[in-house]
Amino acid sequence: MTKTYDAIIIGTGQAGPFLAERLAGAGMKVAIIERKLFGGTCINTGCTPTKTMVASAYAAHMVRRAADFGVVENGLPSVDMKLVKSRKDAISGQSRKEVESWLRGMPNCTVYQGHARFVSATEISVGAESLTANRIFINVGGRAVVPHMPGVEGIPYLNNSSIMDVDFLPRHLVIVGGGYIGLEFAQMYRRFGSEVTVIEMAPHLAQHEDEDVSTAIREILENEGIHVRTNATCISFSKRGEDILAHVDCVVGDPEVRGSHILLAVGRRPNTDDLGLTEAGVAVDKRGYIVVDDQLRTSVPGIWALGDCNGKGAFTHTAFNDSEIVGANLLDNDTRKVSDRITAYALYIDPPLGRAGLTEAEVRKSGRRALIGRRPMTKVGRAVEKGETQGFMKIVVDAETHQILGAAILGTGGDEAIHSILDVMYAKAPYTVIQRAVHIHPTVSELIPTMLGELQPLSEQRTDK
Ligand SMILES: Cc1cc2nc3c(=O)[nH]c(=O)nc-3n(C[C@H](O)[C@H](O)[C@H](O)COP(=O)(O)OP(=O)(O)OC[C@H]3O[C@@H](n4cnc5c(N)ncnc54)[C@H](O)[C@@H]3O)c2cc1C
Repeated sequence: MTKTYDAIIIGTGQAGPFLAERLAGAGMKVAIIERKLFGGTCINTGCTPTKTMVASAYAAHMVRRAADFGVVENGLPSVDMKLVKSRKDAISGQSRKEVESWLRGMPNCTVYQGHARFVSATEISVGAESLTANRIFINVGGRAVVPHMPGVEGIPYLNNSSIMDVDFLPRHLVIVGGGYIGLEFAQMYRRFGSEVTVIEMAPHLAQHEDEDVSTAIREILENEGIHVRTNATCISFSKRGEDILAHVDCVVGDPEVRGSHILLAVGRRPNTDDLGLTEAGVAVDKRGYIVVDDQLRTSVPGIWALGDCNGKGAFTHTAFNDSEIVGANLLDNDTRKVSDRITAYALYIDPPLGRAGLTEAEVRKSGRRALIGRRPMTKVGRAVEKGETQGFMKIVVDAETHQILGAAILGTGGDEAIHSILDVMYAKAPYTVIQRAVHIHPTVSELIPTMLGELQPLSEQRTDK
């Protein structure tokens, strides 16, 4: 028998549960369906576990650096990977449990476990059950891509999910992909004690960043002994004994990289191929992302898509914001939209990169008149005191409106300090507001007003090259 709901939500990632709470709180009868782990990617195989492991790696790094701070350590530090994993599992598992019990205890909300599939635009099957609603919200997220690289099917490889089960130290971890996910794993495993090589097809790591940012990131990683191979076209794999060979066609360096383990971090794809979207008539683009408008409505009235599966964002904060946008439009008569969002994210290597708005290269391309400020972390007192002076910060502002166009803080505390810039961007206030604000000493943020006091015309500066 088909069960009727006011709303069906597919997926319990970073949008679904929050939307369920809003809709159920407004009196709607809600069904939410999860096929695997409550909390989705972020909690189980993404943000939470990686950041707990980054914290373990930072601890190992600081123990090795203890003498720099006058702390005498007798004996070599060693990393117990089983303990690193169990700390990660405990923190991640606690979050998963909290999401599940929150949903199961939510008034007006029924939880289903199983794979959801559209039967029609208003009907969903979950195993033997059939559910119907006039409002359906898709929050199915994405998964790691397996690249079409010769030999890949003949080798054992790790991805962001399977590496979560690793409780040993790979002798030599070869990471294919020099994007955000690959780089976080690269630094953490190097700090745990593995030899690490990153292979990237593009000429630069973190290729969407300005060249000066990606060059500084590369220096930070190479200073720790990570091997980086860029311009690696024609990647293929084969086995040699217990080892795996990655064959690379690089401009510089050996054509073979021999490692004990391979991590594929070459991108993600949406979980939309096994959802029955054709039966519902929901349009997807060439890469499988569900096509949505500015308020996250799909091509079919009564069906919305939120989070990574709509291609409008690839972060937890963008997925959560999607739930706010849909909730506001449906329940608050508030026409919030995706285009109100300012690009913002962090890369959690150490020191981290905090980013907001446009890159310098994007501003240059736009042709607008702009001003730029830049400051190395060696001139940030807080960084000097902490002995963490790698990186720099920069900011670009519109020469006419004085509004901030974009910023990057690659340095200690960069993931937090960027918010003082981001909030002023949301306020659409001129940069002079930050310049006149009295910031706390000693912090990284206190040097942002100083940097703003030294702005130069962008056309006369060349820092992105
Ligand atoms: C290694 C890694 C590190 C990351 N670090 C960060 C970070 O530091 N900060 C950040 O902002 N973002 C980070 N991200 C990205 C972040 O995890 C995602 O952007 C976020 O989880 C997207 O949330 P979502 O709700 O769209 O989907 P997901 O969190 O992927 O949730 C989708 C859910 O839907 C379920 N599902 C799928 N299909 C079906 C179906 N047919 N039926 C029923 N259920 C289904 C899945 O099982 C899953 O639970 C990271 C990602 C990775 C891989």
